Amino acid sequence: MSQKTRTVSARSFFAPRGALSQWHPNYEFRPGQLEMAEAVESAIAEGKHLLVEAGTGTGKSLAYLVPAILAAKRIVVSTGTKNLQEQLFYKDIPFLQQHFANQLRVCYMKGRSNYACRQKIYDAEREPILSGLEEVADFQIIREWEKTTETGDRAEIATLPENSSAWAKVDARGELCTGQKCAQYDRCFITEMQRRAIASDIIIVNHHLFFADLAVKEKDFGGIIPDYEAVVFDEAHELEDVAGQYFGLSVSNFMVDDLRKDILSLARRKSLGTPELDRVLIGLQDASDRFFACFPAQDGRTGFQRRAAFIEQFRDVYEDILNALEITGIQLQMICESMDEVVPLFARARTLQADLKQYLEGVAEDFVYWIERRNRGVFLQAVPIDISPLLTERLFDRVPSAILTSATLSVGGGFDFLIKRLGISYARTLNVASPFDFREQSLLYVPQHLPEPRDPAFPKAAAEEIIKILNLSCGRAFVLCTSYVSMRALHDRVSYEVVYPVLLQGTAPRSALLEQFKNTPNAVLFATSSFWQGVDVQGDQLSCVIIDKLPFAVPSDPVVAARTDAVRRQGGEPFRDYQIPQAAIALKQGFGRLIRSRTDRGVLVLLDNRITRQRYGQIFFDSLPDYAFTTELAKVEEFFHKNV
Ligand code: SF4
Repeated sequence: MSQKTRTVSARSFFAPRGALSQWHPNYEFRPGQLEMAEAVESAIAEGKHLLVEAGTGTGKSLAYLVPAILAAKRIVVSTGTKNLQEQLFYKDIPFLQQHFANQLRVCYMKGRSNYACRQKIYDAEREPILSGLEEVADFQIIREWEKTTETGDRAEIATLPENSSAWAKVDARGELCTGQKCAQYDRCFITEMQRRAIASDIIIVNHHLFFADLAVKEKDFGGIIPDYEAVVFDEAHELEDVAGQYFGLSVSNFMVDDLRKDILSLARRKSLGTPELDRVLIGLQDASDRFFACFPAQDGRTGFQRRAAFIEQFRDVYEDILNALEITGIQLQMICESMDEVVPLFARARTLQADLKQYLEGVAEDFVYWIERRNRGVFLQAVPIDISPLLTERLFDRVPSAILTSATLSVGGGFDFLIKRLGISYARTLNVASPFDFREQSLLYVPQHLPEPRDPAFPKAAAEEIIKILNLSCGRAFVLCTSYVSMRALHDRVSYEVVYPVLLQGTAPRSALLEQFKNTPNAVLFATSSFWQGVDVQGDQLSCVIIDKLPFAVPSDPVVAARTDAVRRQGGEPFRDYQIPQAAIALKQGFGRLIRSRTDRGVLVLLDNRITRQRYGQIFFDSLPDYAFTTELAKVEEFFHKNV
């Protein structure tokens, strides 16, 4: 830690004429930023948990990074999106290192599949696992880069396609890693990343890596994030969903298939193939096909609570796949038990067998079970209905200080919903208002003449309204929908009726679509939930955000149904205690795309007028920033005329 950091406190850093004012080219005093920084500073020093809702423009990343640096403890910062991770690591941290913390050591950790496995690269060079010219060409690029890279992070190879199949064959994901037995262990990029993390003051991760690590640590496998004294979760509104995935169970036909292919590939490379192994693997494939065909055929998520009845009906098929996995394990032991590469394959066969048994026979009233079909994949999944006891026990009772922040944590100004969902009791709370003048900068329009969203006449009326609004905004809009069905229906009705370039989610990768939107004058983008957060378009290019419906979670979804049932069982009222707060946070996220700076101006449109007609609508209004409000289209025209 540099000498300078010892002489600075959060107050002397952020205050008028403080340290930041001397270094930052666009410094402006933000009282909310100072308030947040002081709250973070004392929470870390006193070992307390803290929840901070920090409105857009607060400057919250510096408000937690600076106290984290001043604390001189190892602190993990976990974000929801890659964009934010990169902003912290490539922009905010270097700025702070340059001006006051030049000794600060920071490490950016990603999931294993982002790094190259040296051993796999060397194996691939010797043995024929590549197919097709494109794969060979990609591999040559990777091979050359591996000789010089210090991190092994694929982000360094700008020319490598996002879905490169060559990369998938040489990445460092854990399934085939032999760990300390690997000849490359000391030079391994994962080992190197862990060394850097141990030597770091601040470790930047994402929520997926954080919870994957937390779940693995619980099973005594170690984990890769070293011990820390505080954790900061930015974009903390995502924690419940992400954490749930890692404390749940997932088994799929793809996992069985990948195991079979990895065994075949190893057998080919090491000349271990035998007719018996071939026979066993054909048997595994056959048993897997028959087993996964027993599950409901419809696409999407289907609840699956009748596990005992399933076993009763398909006992033979179920026993066949368990046996096939057992025999695969035995066969692996027989061909070469002592070979290091066989060990992880054997462990995978055993884990798959155990997970399948756990899925169908395990006692777990606290879990919700469902089947998901996507393309050719059949996924058997389960997550805890209530994640809060797990998080209390494994995270909040163990880490001295957890800071949770986001622009959208509170409902109607309070944090009760989040505290309950995450099990973070005894937390301090702080609500920091945005420094933006929302009444001046934005107008919320809710048309009153549209039918309710459930009315069959809604899609046509909504599309007509969108066309009128786009003609006033000259495009430059996001149309954010609560479902794919609604997105397609509105897109199909609107796209031929406007003169502006229209983009549709799903026609290109998300980042490419966003770039295209930013670079195409007067563009309109139709999208669903993945564009409701983590999207930042400053300036006139985004001047209008239209949302079709109040974003209530779909009640028939198995996870939502299980969670609402649980609220009811505990004496609560699911609509009031779960669905409304969850939708209020989602709406605030969606509308939050519009005003990203002090100079942004624009119109928000909610086509669902239940917000003004139902009593519960007030909770949504109480949760949103103080936008100017109208129910008249003429006022929208006036606003665009005057402002944008
Ligand atoms: S230790 Fe694992 S990830 Fe690292 S080079 Fe070896 S096999 Fe690959």
